Amino acid sequence: SIMPATLSAISNGARNGVLFKGGVHLENLSHLQAIAFDKTGTLTKGKPEVTDVHLREEADEAAVLSAVHAIERESNHPLAQAIVQHSVGVSGFEKLAADNVQDIAGNGVTAEVLGMKWKIGKAGFVGEEDAAAFNDGIAERLAEQGKTVVFAADEHGIAGLIALKDTVREEAKQAIQVLKSNGIYTVMLTGDNETTAKAIAEEAGIDNYVAECLPEEKVEQMKKLKASFDNVGMVGDGINDAPALATANVGIAMGEGTDVALETADVVLMKNDLPKIANAIKLSQRMNKIV
Ligand code: ADP
Ligand code: MG
Repeated sequence: SIMPATLSAISNGARNGVLFKGGVHLENLSHLQAIAFDKTGTLTKGKPEVTDVHLREEADEAAVLSAVHAIERESNHPLAQAIVQHSVGVSGFEKLAADNVQDIAGNGVTAEVLGMKWKIGKAGFVGEEDAAAFNDGIAERLAEQGKTVVFAADEHGIAGLIALKDTVREEAKQAIQVLKSNGIYTVMLTGDNETTAKAIAEEAGIDNYVAECLPEEKVEQMKKLKASFDNVGMVGDGINDAPALATANVGIAMGEGTDVALETADVVLMKNDLPKIANAIKLSQRMNKIV
């Protein structure tokens, strides 16, 4: 049976925007030693904006972005949505249709437009060497600014790249600082490349990061953390994060996250309010003393 102190802590949490799906999660939270965060949509706002477009010599911006638009509007990745929004504003933009669109999680999209095969996504997806050499290595310089670089390649090679920047949430920086000062180890998990991940991790002030982390690798990272720490949390918002949330001792979902993340998590932050994690830990520790 559930203890009055536990019930009281759960209702206290609910009043303060933190939903616990059971008393055991409060217990685990009170002993938390490490916590992993998804990047996009969790530490960042998840609303990236296009900042730069670089094309191969003689490529026509409207032609490239019209093809890219046709493909990306079939994807619901946050990067795709930002690229679609940007493309329609380019002078000469034309609405085209894409065939055989395939969304490849953690990598990008492939499709055909006007009989031409396209590949849109990260460097490793279109070819690491071509991507690094493209326009004198411009991608690396963009990544150092914390920008995510998406390449668009047709059958002749890379036609262009699109750089996007997402904003790190102010509350994320604050939450990480408080968690660290409580002796909790913090780490960011992202599918983004090494250079971009490093820049964002520094901006967020997080202890460590793992880049190029495919959805299934987030689970492996959680298992690794569990091998080093007794009690491990994970915070995420996406469908991609659900397996990692389930692997953590305490899975925490952003309230505005996807349904799957909300269902899988043990704790829900009702207003995406990351600093509430530290409050919830304090609450759980107080409850533990009483119990
Ligand atoms: P994150 O974990 O940072 O949210 P993902 O795992 O979803 O990132 O994707 C990893 C990388 O794959 C992205 O940074 C991007 O380069 C590429 N990518 C994935 N989906 C798309 C898409 N629809 N359009 C363009 N690039 C994509
Ligand atoms: Mg996310």
